[in-house]
Amino acid sequence: MKTIVVGAGIVGVSVAYSLLNRGHEVTLVEAEEVAAGTTSTSYAWINSHKKHPESYHALNYEGLKHWTHVVSAQHPETVLLHGHVEFAVDHGHRTTLRQRLERLQSLDYAARWITPEEAAQLTPVQVPQDALVALFPWEGHAYPQQLAASRVAEMRRSPDFSLIIDPVTAITRAEGRVGLRSGTQLQGDVVVLAVGNSTTEVAAKAGIQLPMVPKEVGGAAFGYLAYVRAPDHGLQGPVTSDHLNLRPNGENGLILQALDLDATADPALTPAPEIAEEFIDRLQALLPAVSTELEEVRVGHRVIPGDGLTVAGPATEEPENRLWIAVTHSGVVLGPWLGEALAEEISTEQANPLFRDFRPTRFASAEQTPAYAAPRNPGDQ
Ligand SMILES: Cc1cc2nc3c(=O)[nH]c(=O)nc-3n(C[C@H](O)[C@H](O)[C@H](O)COP(=O)(O)OP(=O)(O)OC[C@H]3O[C@@H](n4cnc5c(N)ncnc54)[C@H](O)[C@@H]3O)c2cc1C
Repeated sequence: MKTIVVGAGIVGVSVAYSLLNRGHEVTLVEAEEVAAGTTSTSYAWINSHKKHPESYHALNYEGLKHWTHVVSAQHPETVLLHGHVEFAVDHGHRTTLRQRLERLQSLDYAARWITPEEAAQLTPVQVPQDALVALFPWEGHAYPQQLAASRVAEMRRSPDFSLIIDPVTAITRAEGRVGLRSGTQLQGDVVVLAVGNSTTEVAAKAGIQLPMVPKEVGGAAFGYLAYVRAPDHGLQGPVTSDHLNLRPNGENGLILQALDLDATADPALTPAPEIAEEFIDRLQALLPAVSTELEEVRVGHRVIPGDGLTVAGPATEEPENRLWIAVTHSGVVLGPWLGEALAEEISTEQANPLFRDFRPTRFASAEQTPAYAAPRNPGDQ
Protein backbone atom coordinates (compact mmCIF):
# COMPACT_ATOMS: atom_id res chain seq x y z
CA MET A 1 0.00 0.00 0.00
CA LYS A 2 1.16 3.55 -0.73
CA THR A 3 0.88 5.62 2.46
CA ILE A 4 1.46 9.28 3.30
CA VAL A 5 2.02 10.38 6.89
CA VAL A 6 1.79 14.11 7.58
CA GLY A 7 3.76 15.43 10.60
CA ALA A 8 7.08 14.11 11.92
CA GLY A 9 6.58 14.43 15.69
CA ILE A 10 6.64 11.35 17.92
CA VAL A 11 3.15 10.36 16.73
CA GLY A 12 3.71 10.73 12.96
CA VAL A 13 7.17 9.12 13.07
CA SER A 14 5.74 6.19 15.04
CA VAL A 15 2.91 5.67 12.54
CA ALA A 16 5.36 5.91 9.61
CA TYR A 17 7.80 3.49 11.27
CA SER A 18 5.12 0.88 11.93
CA LEU A 19 3.62 1.19 8.43
CA LEU A 20 7.07 0.74 6.87
CA ASN A 21 7.76 -2.31 9.07
CA ARG A 22 4.53 -3.81 7.78
CA GLY A 23 5.80 -3.58 4.21
CA HIS A 24 4.03 -0.41 3.05
CA GLU A 25 5.56 2.39 1.02
CA VAL A 26 5.77 5.48 3.26
CA THR A 27 6.15 9.16 2.42
CA LEU A 28 6.55 11.24 5.59
CA VAL A 29 5.77 14.93 5.01
CA GLU A 30 6.89 17.50 7.57
CA ALA A 31 6.50 21.29 7.51
CA GLU A 32 9.76 22.16 9.31
CA GLU A 33 12.04 19.38 10.58
CA VAL A 34 11.75 16.09 12.45
CA ALA A 35 10.35 16.69 15.97
CA ALA A 36 9.93 20.42 15.29
CA GLY A 37 6.74 20.62 17.37
CA THR A 38 5.73 19.71 20.93
CA THR A 39 7.82 16.53 20.83
CA SER A 40 10.94 18.65 21.41
CA THR A 41 9.45 20.51 24.43
CA SER A 42 7.85 17.88 26.63
CA TYR A 43 8.19 16.61 30.18
CA ALA A 44 7.92 13.10 28.66
CA TRP A 45 6.98 11.26 31.85
CA ILE A 46 6.06 7.69 30.92
CA ASN A 47 3.04 6.67 32.95
CA SER A 48 -0.63 5.79 32.98
CA HIS A 49 -1.19 7.64 36.16
CA LYS A 50 -4.23 9.87 36.21
CA LYS A 51 -6.02 8.82 33.06
CA HIS A 52 -9.81 8.95 33.07
CA PRO A 53 -12.05 7.26 31.98
CA GLU A 54 -10.82 3.69 32.24
CA SER A 55 -10.79 3.21 28.46
CA TYR A 56 -8.23 6.06 28.34
CA HIS A 57 -6.23 4.43 31.13
CA ALA A 58 -6.25 1.24 29.02
CA LEU A 59 -4.69 3.11 26.07
CA ASN A 60 -1.99 4.69 28.22
CA TYR A 61 -1.29 1.35 29.88
CA GLU A 62 -0.69 -0.11 26.39
CA GLY A 63 1.60 2.85 25.69
CA LEU A 64 3.57 2.22 28.89
CA LYS A 65 3.92 -1.51 28.11
CA HIS A 66 5.11 -0.71 24.58
CA TRP A 67 7.89 1.54 25.91
CA THR A 68 8.81 -1.15 28.45
CA HIS A 69 8.93 -4.15 26.15
CA VAL A 70 9.50 -2.79 22.63
CA VAL A 71 11.10 0.67 22.59
CA SER A 72 13.46 0.02 25.51
CA ALA A 73 14.75 -3.10 23.71
CA GLN A 74 15.22 -1.31 20.35
CA HIS A 75 16.39 2.11 21.55
CA PRO A 76 17.44 1.79 25.21
CA GLU A 77 19.07 5.24 25.11
CA THR A 78 15.64 6.87 24.67
CA VAL A 79 13.87 5.68 27.83
CA LEU A 80 14.62 4.99 31.50
CA LEU A 81 11.96 3.20 33.52
CA HIS A 82 13.44 3.19 37.03
CA GLY A 83 10.23 4.23 38.79
CA HIS A 84 8.56 7.47 39.82
CA VAL A 85 8.48 8.75 43.40
CA GLU A 86 5.69 11.09 44.49
CA PHE A 87 5.51 12.64 47.93
CA ALA A 88 2.88 14.84 49.51
CA VAL A 89 3.10 17.17 52.49
CA ASP A 90 0.18 19.53 51.76
CA HIS A 91 -3.18 18.29 53.00
CA GLY A 92 -4.88 18.53 49.58
CA HIS A 93 -2.06 16.69 47.82
CA ARG A 94 -2.05 13.94 50.48
CA THR A 95 -5.75 13.37 49.85
CA THR A 96 -5.46 13.17 46.06
CA LEU A 97 -2.33 10.99 46.23
CA ARG A 98 -4.18 8.50 48.47
CA GLN A 99 -7.13 8.43 46.07
CA ARG A 100 -4.88 7.96 43.05
CA LEU A 101 -2.82 5.19 44.58
CA GLU A 102 -5.92 3.27 45.64
CA ARG A 103 -7.47 3.62 42.19
CA LEU A 104 -4.30 2.50 40.44
CA GLN A 105 -3.93 -0.51 42.74
CA SER A 106 -7.54 -1.46 41.97
CA LEU A 107 -6.54 -1.41 38.27
CA ASP A 108 -3.58 -3.76 38.99
CA TYR A 109 -1.15 -0.95 38.24
CA ALA A 110 2.11 -1.12 40.23
CA ALA A 111 1.80 1.48 43.00
CA ARG A 112 2.73 1.26 46.69
CA TRP A 113 3.50 3.31 49.77
CA ILE A 114 7.12 3.63 50.85
CA THR A 115 8.69 5.34 53.85
CA PRO A 116 10.77 8.53 53.57
CA GLU A 117 13.80 6.35 54.48
CA GLU A 118 13.09 4.04 51.53
CA ALA A 119 12.65 7.11 49.31
CA ALA A 120 16.10 8.30 50.37
CA GLN A 121 17.54 5.07 48.92
CA LEU A 122 15.82 5.75 45.59
CA THR A 123 16.29 9.47 45.08
CA PRO A 124 18.64 12.28 46.15
CA VAL A 125 15.61 14.56 46.61
CA GLN A 126 15.06 15.59 50.25
CA VAL A 127 11.80 13.96 51.31
CA PRO A 128 10.46 15.36 54.63
CA GLN A 129 9.93 12.87 57.45
CA ASP A 130 6.22 13.69 57.66
CA ALA A 131 5.62 13.20 53.91
CA LEU A 132 3.28 10.60 52.47
CA VAL A 133 5.40 8.83 49.82
CA ALA A 134 4.33 6.61 46.92
CA LEU A 135 6.40 4.60 44.47
CA PHE A 136 5.19 3.80 40.94
CA PRO A 137 7.85 1.30 39.90
CA TRP A 138 6.90 0.87 36.22
CA GLU A 139 7.12 4.56 35.38
CA GLY A 140 9.99 6.67 34.10
CA HIS A 141 10.99 9.26 31.54
CA ALA A 142 11.82 9.33 27.84
CA TYR A 143 13.68 11.28 25.17
CA PRO A 144 11.06 11.42 22.39
CA GLN A 145 13.01 13.78 20.15
CA GLN A 146 15.90 11.30 20.13
CA LEU A 147 13.57 8.38 19.41
CA ALA A 148 12.00 10.26 16.48
CA ALA A 149 15.44 11.10 15.06
CA SER A 150 16.70 7.50 15.44
CA ARG A 151 13.63 6.03 13.80
CA VAL A 152 13.78 8.46 10.88
CA ALA A 153 17.48 7.63 10.39
CA GLU A 154 16.59 3.93 10.39
CA MET A 155 13.69 4.43 7.93
CA ARG A 156 15.91 6.41 5.56
CA ARG A 157 17.83 3.21 4.86
CA SER A 158 14.73 1.69 3.24
CA PRO A 159 14.02 2.28 -0.49
CA ASP A 160 10.31 2.35 0.42
CA PHE A 161 10.67 5.45 2.61
CA SER A 162 10.99 9.12 1.76
CA LEU A 163 10.94 12.25 3.90
CA ILE A 164 9.73 15.51 2.35
CA ILE A 165 10.14 18.84 4.15
CA ASP A 166 7.30 20.93 2.71
CA PRO A 167 4.08 21.94 4.50
CA VAL A 168 0.83 20.29 3.49
CA THR A 169 -1.61 22.91 2.19
CA ALA A 170 -4.42 20.78 0.72
CA ILE A 171 -5.95 17.33 1.26
CA THR A 172 -8.65 15.51 -0.70
CA ARG A 173 -9.78 12.69 1.53
CA ALA A 174 -11.66 10.55 -1.01
CA GLU A 175 -8.75 10.44 -3.45
CA GLY A 176 -5.93 10.45 -0.92
CA ARG A 177 -4.43 13.55 -2.56
CA VAL A 178 -2.08 15.80 -0.63
CA GLY A 179 -0.92 19.18 -1.95
CA LEU A 180 2.29 20.76 -0.67
CA ARG A 181 3.23 24.44 -0.48
CA SER A 182 5.85 23.98 -3.24
CA GLY A 183 3.10 22.84 -5.61
CA THR A 184 4.05 19.15 -5.40
CA GLN A 185 1.05 16.80 -5.44
CA LEU A 186 1.16 13.41 -3.69
CA GLN A 187 -1.33 10.60 -3.83
CA GLY A 188 -1.71 7.68 -1.43
CA ASP A 189 -4.02 4.78 -0.68
CA VAL A 190 -4.05 6.08 2.89
CA VAL A 191 -3.13 9.49 4.31
CA VAL A 192 -2.49 9.76 8.08
CA LEU A 193 -2.65 13.21 9.64
CA ALA A 194 -0.38 13.53 12.71
CA VAL A 195 0.14 17.29 12.81
CA GLY A 196 -0.26 17.91 16.56
CA ASN A 197 -1.41 21.46 17.27
CA SER A 198 -2.13 22.17 13.60
CA THR A 199 -4.80 19.45 13.49
CA THR A 200 -7.84 21.76 13.44
CA GLU A 201 -6.49 23.83 10.55
CA VAL A 202 -5.10 20.95 8.47
CA ALA A 203 -8.14 18.67 9.03
CA ALA A 204 -10.39 21.56 7.96
CA LYS A 205 -8.65 21.54 4.56
CA ALA A 206 -10.11 18.05 4.14
CA GLY A 207 -13.53 19.17 5.40
CA ILE A 208 -13.10 17.57 8.83
CA GLN A 209 -14.03 19.33 12.05
CA LEU A 210 -11.64 18.51 14.88
CA PRO A 211 -11.41 21.00 17.76
CA MET A 212 -8.34 21.26 19.96
CA VAL A 213 -8.32 23.02 23.36
CA PRO A 214 -8.21 26.81 22.89
CA LYS A 215 -4.78 28.40 22.43
CA GLU A 216 -5.42 30.71 25.39
CA VAL A 217 -3.05 31.93 28.09
CA GLY A 218 -4.36 30.60 31.41
CA GLY A 219 -5.93 27.53 29.78
CA ALA A 220 -4.75 23.94 29.39
CA ALA A 221 -2.61 24.42 26.29
CA PHE A 222 0.51 26.19 27.57
CA GLY A 223 2.96 25.14 30.25
CA TYR A 224 6.46 26.06 31.43
CA LEU A 225 9.39 23.67 31.35
CA ALA A 226 12.62 24.77 33.02
CA TYR A 227 15.88 23.26 31.75
CA VAL A 228 18.58 23.18 34.39
CA ARG A 229 22.25 22.22 34.41
CA ALA A 230 22.87 20.03 37.46
CA PRO A 231 26.15 18.08 37.16
CA ASP A 232 25.98 14.56 38.66
CA HIS A 233 22.52 15.18 40.11
CA GLY A 234 22.07 11.45 40.79
CA LEU A 235 18.34 11.48 40.03
CA GLN A 236 17.21 8.21 38.40
CA GLY A 237 13.65 9.05 37.45
CA PRO A 238 10.78 11.52 37.84
CA VAL A 239 9.89 12.90 41.26
CA THR A 240 6.61 14.70 41.95
CA SER A 241 6.25 16.90 45.02
CA ASP A 242 3.71 19.47 46.22
CA HIS A 243 5.09 22.33 44.14
CA LEU A 244 7.68 20.92 41.73
CA ASN A 245 8.05 18.01 39.32
CA LEU A 246 11.56 17.09 38.26
CA ARG A 247 13.08 14.50 35.97
CA PRO A 248 16.56 13.79 34.67
CA ASN A 249 17.64 15.27 31.35
CA GLY A 250 20.79 13.18 30.98
CA GLU A 251 23.25 12.77 33.86
CA ASN A 252 23.98 16.48 34.15
CA GLY A 253 20.63 18.09 33.53
CA LEU A 254 17.08 18.25 34.82
CA ILE A 255 13.71 19.27 33.41
CA LEU A 256 11.36 20.96 35.88
CA GLN A 257 7.64 21.58 35.88
CA ALA A 258 5.60 23.64 38.35
CA LEU A 259 2.03 23.30 37.17
CA ASP A 260 0.65 25.96 39.53
CA LEU A 261 2.80 28.56 37.69
CA ASP A 262 1.46 27.66 34.24
CA ALA A 263 -1.43 30.15 34.26
CA THR A 264 0.95 32.86 32.97
CA ALA A 265 2.73 30.73 30.35
CA ASP A 266 2.47 32.58 27.05
CA PRO A 267 4.34 31.43 23.93
CA ALA A 268 4.39 35.02 22.64
CA LEU A 269 6.43 36.28 25.62
CA THR A 270 9.79 35.50 27.20
CA PRO A 271 9.04 34.00 30.65
CA ALA A 272 9.39 36.62 33.42
CA PRO A 273 12.59 36.46 35.56
CA GLU A 274 10.42 35.76 38.64
CA ILE A 275 9.32 32.48 37.04
CA ALA A 276 12.94 31.41 36.61
CA GLU A 277 13.74 32.40 40.21
CA GLU A 278 10.74 30.51 41.52
CA PHE A 279 11.83 27.34 39.71
CA ILE A 280 15.34 27.56 41.15
CA ASP A 281 14.11 28.31 44.71
CA ARG A 282 11.80 25.31 44.61
CA LEU A 283 14.55 23.10 43.19
CA GLN A 284 17.11 24.15 45.80
CA ALA A 285 14.65 23.26 48.57
CA LEU A 286 14.47 19.72 47.16
CA LEU A 287 18.11 19.21 46.08
CA PRO A 288 20.16 21.50 48.38
CA ALA A 289 23.40 19.57 47.89
CA VAL A 290 23.41 19.72 44.07
CA SER A 291 24.79 22.76 42.27
CA THR A 292 22.22 23.94 39.74
CA GLU A 293 22.16 26.56 37.02
CA LEU A 294 19.07 27.50 35.06
CA GLU A 295 19.65 27.27 31.30
CA GLU A 296 16.25 28.17 29.92
CA VAL A 297 12.54 28.37 30.70
CA ARG A 298 10.48 27.33 27.69
CA VAL A 299 6.76 27.49 27.06
CA GLY A 300 5.46 24.18 25.74
CA HIS A 301 2.24 23.85 23.76
CA ARG A 302 0.33 20.73 24.77
CA VAL A 303 -1.38 18.82 21.96
CA ILE A 304 -4.86 18.31 23.46
CA PRO A 305 -7.96 17.42 21.45
CA GLY A 306 -10.99 19.46 22.55
CA ASP A 307 -12.35 16.82 24.95
CA GLY A 308 -8.89 15.89 26.26
CA LEU A 309 -8.94 12.38 24.79
CA THR A 310 -7.01 10.60 22.06
CA VAL A 311 -8.21 10.80 18.46
CA ALA A 312 -7.26 7.77 16.34
CA GLY A 313 -8.80 6.27 13.24
CA PRO A 314 -10.52 7.05 9.94
CA ALA A 315 -11.66 10.66 9.57
CA THR A 316 -15.12 9.58 8.40
CA GLU A 317 -17.11 6.38 8.03
CA GLU A 318 -17.63 6.94 4.27
CA PRO A 319 -16.38 3.91 2.31
CA GLU A 320 -14.31 6.11 -0.02
CA ASN A 321 -12.51 7.89 2.86
CA ARG A 322 -8.71 7.54 2.77
CA LEU A 323 -7.84 10.02 5.51
CA TRP A 324 -6.89 8.88 9.03
CA ILE A 325 -6.17 11.08 12.03
CA ALA A 326 -3.84 10.54 15.00
CA VAL A 327 -3.66 13.28 17.61
CA THR A 328 -3.39 13.00 21.36
CA HIS A 329 -2.26 14.45 24.64
CA SER A 330 0.31 12.24 26.41
CA GLY A 331 1.63 11.65 22.92
CA VAL A 332 4.99 10.54 24.26
CA VAL A 333 3.47 7.74 26.33
CA LEU A 334 1.07 6.85 23.54
CA GLY A 335 2.92 7.62 20.27
CA PRO A 336 4.96 4.44 19.70
CA TRP A 337 2.08 2.10 20.64
CA LEU A 338 -0.46 4.22 18.76
CA GLY A 339 1.70 4.00 15.63
CA GLU A 340 1.77 0.24 15.89
CA ALA A 341 -1.96 -0.11 16.61
CA LEU A 342 -2.99 2.23 13.79
CA ALA A 343 -0.64 0.56 11.30
CA GLU A 344 -2.24 -2.75 12.24
CA GLU A 345 -5.76 -1.38 11.69
CA ILE A 346 -4.77 0.16 8.35
CA SER A 347 -3.11 -3.07 7.20
CA THR A 348 -5.70 -5.56 8.38
CA GLU A 349 -8.87 -3.41 8.21
CA GLN A 350 -9.75 -4.92 11.61
CA ALA A 351 -11.00 -2.34 14.11
CA ASN A 352 -9.08 -2.34 17.40
CA PRO A 353 -11.68 -2.43 20.23
CA LEU A 354 -9.39 -0.27 22.41
CA PHE A 355 -10.07 2.64 20.01
CA ARG A 356 -13.87 2.45 20.37
CA ASP A 357 -14.13 5.65 22.46
CA PHE A 358 -11.48 7.52 20.50
CA ARG A 359 -12.64 7.82 16.90
CA PRO A 360 -12.41 11.18 15.09
CA THR A 361 -16.07 10.93 14.08
CA ARG A 362 -17.20 11.69 17.65
CA PHE A 363 -16.64 15.40 17.00
CA ALA A 364 -18.92 15.44 13.94
CA SER A 365 -21.86 14.34 16.10
CA ALA A 366 -21.00 16.11 19.39
CA GLU A 367 -23.15 19.22 19.88
CA GLN A 368 -20.59 20.88 22.11
CA THR A 369 -17.19 19.64 23.19
CA PRO A 370 -16.95 19.54 27.01
CA ALA A 371 -14.33 21.96 28.38
CA TYR A 372 -11.03 20.36 29.38
CA ALA A 373 -9.63 21.44 32.77
CA ALA A 374 -6.13 22.93 32.84
CA PRO A 375 -3.54 20.64 34.49
CA ARG A 376 -2.53 22.51 37.65
CA ASN A 377 -2.21 19.83 40.36
CA PRO A 378 0.42 17.23 41.27
CA GLY A 379 0.01 14.11 39.13
CA ASP A 380 -1.56 16.09 36.27
CA GLN A 381 0.15 16.36 32.93
C1 LIG B 1 4.63 21.13 29.06
C2 LIG B 1 4.32 19.79 28.44
C3 LIG B 1 4.46 18.63 29.19
C4 LIG B 1 4.16 17.40 28.62
N1 LIG B 1 4.35 16.27 29.35
C5 LIG B 1 4.11 15.06 28.81
C6 LIG B 1 4.38 13.89 29.55
O1 LIG B 1 4.85 13.94 30.68
N2 LIG B 1 4.11 12.69 28.96
C7 LIG B 1 3.59 12.61 27.70
O2 LIG B 1 3.37 11.51 27.21
N3 LIG B 1 3.32 13.72 26.99
C8 LIG B 1 3.56 14.93 27.52
N4 LIG B 1 3.32 16.06 26.80
C9 LIG B 1 2.63 15.92 25.51
C10 LIG B 1 3.50 15.36 24.41
O3 LIG B 1 4.74 16.01 24.38
C11 LIG B 1 2.75 15.53 23.09
O4 LIG B 1 1.48 14.89 23.20
C12 LIG B 1 3.50 14.95 21.91
O5 LIG B 1 4.81 15.46 21.82
C13 LIG B 1 2.72 15.25 20.64
O6 LIG B 1 3.41 14.73 19.55
P1 LIG B 1 2.84 14.92 18.09
O7 LIG B 1 3.70 14.13 17.19
O8 LIG B 1 1.39 14.64 18.07
O9 LIG B 1 2.93 16.49 17.82
P2 LIG B 1 4.18 17.39 17.43
O10 LIG B 1 5.41 16.96 18.11
O11 LIG B 1 3.78 18.80 17.63
O12 LIG B 1 4.38 17.07 15.89
C14 LIG B 1 3.52 17.55 14.89
C15 LIG B 1 4.36 17.80 13.66
O13 LIG B 1 3.50 18.16 12.58
C16 LIG B 1 4.16 19.14 11.81
N5 LIG B 1 3.16 19.86 11.01
C17 LIG B 1 2.24 20.76 11.45
N6 LIG B 1 1.53 21.24 10.42
C18 LIG B 1 1.99 20.62 9.30
C19 LIG B 1 1.66 20.69 7.92
N7 LIG B 1 0.71 21.52 7.46
N8 LIG B 1 2.36 19.93 7.05
C20 LIG B 1 3.33 19.08 7.49
N9 LIG B 1 3.68 18.98 8.79
C21 LIG B 1 3.02 19.74 9.68
C22 LIG B 1 4.85 20.01 12.85
O14 LIG B 1 5.90 20.77 12.28
C23 LIG B 1 5.34 18.97 13.84
O15 LIG B 1 6.65 18.52 13.56
C24 LIG B 1 3.66 17.31 27.29
C25 LIG B 1 3.56 18.47 26.53
C26 LIG B 1 3.90 19.70 27.09
C27 LIG B 1 3.81 20.92 26.25
